[in-house]
Amino acid sequence: MIIFRINYKYIIGIFIYLIFFQNLTQAGVNNETHYTISFLQPQNHYVNVEMTFDSRGENEVSVSLPVWTPGSYMIREFARHIEKVNAYTSDNSPLEIFKTNKNSWKIITNGPGKISVKYRVYCNELTVRTSQVNIDNAFLNGSNIFMFVRGRLSDKCVLKINLPKNWKNISTGLKKISNDLYESDNYDDFIDCPIVAGNQEILEFTVSGKKHFICMAGKGNYEPAKIISDFKKIVEVQEKLFGDLPYNDFTFIVMLVQAGGGGLEHKNSFAVIADRNLFDKPERYRRFLGLISHEFFHTWNVKRIRPEVLGPFNYDSEVYTKMHYVTEGWTSFYDNVLLRRAKIFNDEEYLTMFENEVNDIMRFQGRFKQSLEESSFDNWIKYYRQDENSKNSQISYYTKGALVAFLLDMEIIKATNAEKSLDEVLKLLYDDYKKNPSKGYTDGRIKELSEQVSGINMDNFWRDYIAGTKDLPLKEYLELAGVELINTTADDKITLDVEYTYITDSVIMINKVYEGGSGYAAGLNFRDKLISIEDEMVTKNNLQSVLDKYNIGDEIEIKIDRDGLEKTVSVILKTGLPRYKMKIMDNRSDSQLKFYNKWIYG
Ligand SMILES: [Zn+2]
Repeated sequence: MIIFRINYKYIIGIFIYLIFFQNLTQAGVNNETHYTISFLQPQNHYVNVEMTFDSRGENEVSVSLPVWTPGSYMIREFARHIEKVNAYTSDNSPLEIFKTNKNSWKIITNGPGKISVKYRVYCNELTVRTSQVNIDNAFLNGSNIFMFVRGRLSDKCVLKINLPKNWKNISTGLKKISNDLYESDNYDDFIDCPIVAGNQEILEFTVSGKKHFICMAGKGNYEPAKIISDFKKIVEVQEKLFGDLPYNDFTFIVMLVQAGGGGLEHKNSFAVIADRNLFDKPERYRRFLGLISHEFFHTWNVKRIRPEVLGPFNYDSEVYTKMHYVTEGWTSFYDNVLLRRAKIFNDEEYLTMFENEVNDIMRFQGRFKQSLEESSFDNWIKYYRQDENSKNSQISYYTKGALVAFLLDMEIIKATNAEKSLDEVLKLLYDDYKKNPSKGYTDGRIKELSEQVSGINMDNFWRDYIAGTKDLPLKEYLELAGVELINTTADDKITLDVEYTYITDSVIMINKVYEGGSGYAAGLNFRDKLISIEDEMVTKNNLQSVLDKYNIGDEIEIKIDRDGLEKTVSVILKTGLPRYKMKIMDNRSDSQLKFYNKWIYG
């Protein structure tokens, strides 16, 4: 009996100890990785990083840097910019550390205790997926900068930022603990928050009680009040579509540069790069707002509603999905629709954006070579690595995805007599997400919900336009909403259907040759330089007027310089590749108006 009592107490004791120790481990520093960044040589583009974590008694621990960054589907080998990697114990004694593959290092520990890994990163590439540090400011993408401890992606991350003396501001989506201390629940979320440090202007507005910060980094000819007003409208119209704002606060990062562009989505922030002087040019400003609307839409579509492989992430290699026609295609459809819905665009401005997407796909032969699903799956080696032949051999899942999203929207509107639209499918996908945020959707879920909302079978739609390369029936579907699609090629000037680079005013080099055009049929090549047409020398200034002397059906002799040798190519002039315009029909029927309004206003 006594023995039993002693054992009983002993077992209880162990039990209490285990619970206590377990809790301590869960809440304590053992489950955290701490990072400190400092800018010791910003003028030479370096950020210094120190990461500290517990060995947890393991004899060996490995750390790695991602090879790609979520949202930008290309292996970029960020580890190539890492220098001077060293590991230390808590009393600063060196530990053995060596590389085990291109992006990983192994540390031989001294048993229990803290380990610090110190290194620096060269950052001199300002794009939305890379990093730049210079004397004035820094833009850091976590995937380029912060290593992770292998097997500990779910550990909390804590970041201390040591700013140079004359830098005042930090903009990031990370949770702020104090002025220079930030944290994140896990590594995925940690590197999902790019950081801007410097003296950027920070604009602010509130929607539904949630703070929105606009970090305007760099000089620009923008008017703060106009930026705030337009960004706010974008937030409000998207909140109305989805029903809520799924974050505590949001940081818009706008990097202003002399020339450049692009955007990258994150969970409660995004980064875009834009021309600093675009703000007084209406057409370019509309495209900028299209980018803002696009990246903000990703707050739901891809950062929350997402295919299974897009979070949690595998940072060591490519992750494949056929679903980018939803992640990027639907986003590219809604970015402009919602700007029309918010009344930032008028009908004509909206349709001009739509026209560009139609022309990007419907002019080129790539549409018969690659389906949406193939384009999505192969984006690592094709869409992200385009060359001079890409328009002939592939499509963009952004633009074709947007066109097919429109067709699907009209298919649902037609089937339900404008009771429902693609909006309902999105809302159901968002409901799915809210029920189980940790898991993305399966490939079949999109079709299943589209059929549920429309009440019709979509086998053929998916076979033809998503898995297949059947030409898109845009003309018929636009007509349902009273919009005319007009091929204006007949009005165009004589063309070889090639693109030129003007090296100087008198040196014209071909940089693309489009299949279906007269230049392609005659065998003009990428890098050929035009010398003369029918013995008349051509320059940047006279090329079009020389071509316009001839008619469709004429055969002309073009002299070229190919790889330093002169050659003559005979070209039979053909009608140019199609070029489309859109126009709202006069006297639209009630049904056309109803369908149009459902498409635009949901
Ligand atoms: Zn996108």
